[in-house]
Amino acid sequence: MTKESVIKLDMFINHKDVSTGKYFEVRDPGRYSEVVGLVATGSAANVNDAVCAAHAAFQSWKNVPLNERVERLLAAAAELDKLSAELAVTLVREQGMLLRETTRDVGNGIKSLREVATLAESFMQTEEFEDEESVVRVEKVPRGVVAAIVPWNAPMGLTMGKVGPALVTGNTLVIKPSPFAPLATSQALKTIAAFFPPGVINIIHGEGEVGPALTRHPLVRKISFTGGTTTGKAVMAAAAESVKSITLELGGNDPAIILDDAVPSDVVPELIKGIFPRSGQVCYAVKRVYVPAGMLDTFFETLCEAVDQFKVGYGLDERATLAPLNNRNQYDFVKGLIERAKQSGATVRELGKKLDVANWNNGYYVSPTVVKDVAPSAELVLTEQFGPVIPLIPYESEEQVLQMANSTEYGLASSIWGRDVDRAFRLSSRIEAGVTFINSHARTALGERHMPFGGVKQSGIGRVRTTVGLAEYIEYHAISLNKKACRP
Ligand code: NDP
Repeated sequence: MTKESVIKLDMFINHKDVSTGKYFEVRDPGRYSEVVGLVATGSAANVNDAVCAAHAAFQSWKNVPLNERVERLLAAAAELDKLSAELAVTLVREQGMLLRETTRDVGNGIKSLREVATLAESFMQTEEFEDEESVVRVEKVPRGVVAAIVPWNAPMGLTMGKVGPALVTGNTLVIKPSPFAPLATSQALKTIAAFFPPGVINIIHGEGEVGPALTRHPLVRKISFTGGTTTGKAVMAAAAESVKSITLELGGNDPAIILDDAVPSDVVPELIKGIFPRSGQVCYAVKRVYVPAGMLDTFFETLCEAVDQFKVGYGLDERATLAPLNNRNQYDFVKGLIERAKQSGATVRELGKKLDVANWNNGYYVSPTVVKDVAPSAELVLTEQFGPVIPLIPYESEEQVLQMANSTEYGLASSIWGRDVDRAFRLSSRIEAGVTFINSHARTALGERHMPFGGVKQSGIGRVRTTVGLAEYIEYHAISLNKKACRP
């Protein structure tokens, strides 16, 4: 893709491009004056067409043998490999992240397709039990049309994390990418769709009426939604109208608890990997750091020194280590949080080096910022900031820090940092979260394979990844035979 090229994107229903005559612009968050894409704005009627196509395709797709579904998915993943470099560049231009981050996002998406292909064979087996009187079979059957709704912050990994499990278990899909990052995802989805019959993968775009029309549609049997908690509540209410199954991956306000035996200079390099990826726009980024009161000043200075090394710039600039935010709302919100923290009397350090200063106001650039002298109940501590600003909060005792960490309606991930592993495991079990990391805030390769991911409280319902994630896309059909009636 050249710097000047503008991608024109239609919807994709039943293997056909569907235009609407009305297009919305996608602009580069790092060079806002540049239009990157024009995307067809859909309507409730387009949603209906897409859902009906998916419903019609489901009648035969559900009967396709599992090994063929797996083969098609693996072939689609191999085709995506060939496109991955191009997709990563498109993603930088529409979504704003660093090229190495979008490359990872694309790679994660492809990897997740392969992962479910491997898991599906043993997972989908029918279980059978028998005694003198009866035979019981428990089948796993697909649900039907799945509506997949994704946000902009890691669009490729999150989309493919829905596509793989839905298709391999025999469902069909209507996918609504985010208007803030629809281009690369749609290109990848259309590539994959060629490996499946018409109607198995459908893509719709549009704001306003489109999301609710999809989540309300009576032929949709499952909604897999990733996005903000407020939107998640609207999705849940819409799903209730026709009792749809839902998986909700929502917001988080992840605490990191530094214990008093932790060494700041050891912790900080790993901790910043949990705070600043994608400029803090990660659902399970560290969003507040609790530090023993006696260590606060040392920890603050060590963290500031490390954060000051960031180079803030355009995603395709190889020198950049921190990219702009994705959109105007997010930018205004994060800038507002920083301003209000200053006004409250907190100590606020705006750090890092600005690259390409002449372009600074032509994108949503925010300096990485570390804050202390902030109350545990401050807005910056209680909210999901989704940006490169992190508060440090002092604590006096284990009981107090657990109480502060759990005093939130969020419960996505969390982390504990210290050298006494038994103590860390003991405290982990008392954190109200779907996931807790010890001495990191990211999944290891082993974690990728074995950790179901998701939130408690208002951070979500259900889990993704592993066979627990696959189970979100199936129904159980239990069949019982009375053997006595068959005897001669
Ligand atoms: P939003 O909730 O604003 O949007 C997510 C998607 O939902 C978009 O495609 C949006 O499109 C759509 N949408 C909005 N309103 C409705 C509706 N009433 N019915 C159906 N669909 C609707 O989230 P963001 O895109 O701003 O993403 C950021 C949020 O996502 C953060 O809170 C983050 O924590 C969360 N997230 C959670 C993850 C997790 O695994 N728990 C992972 C990644 C992000 P449109 O606006 O066009 O309608």
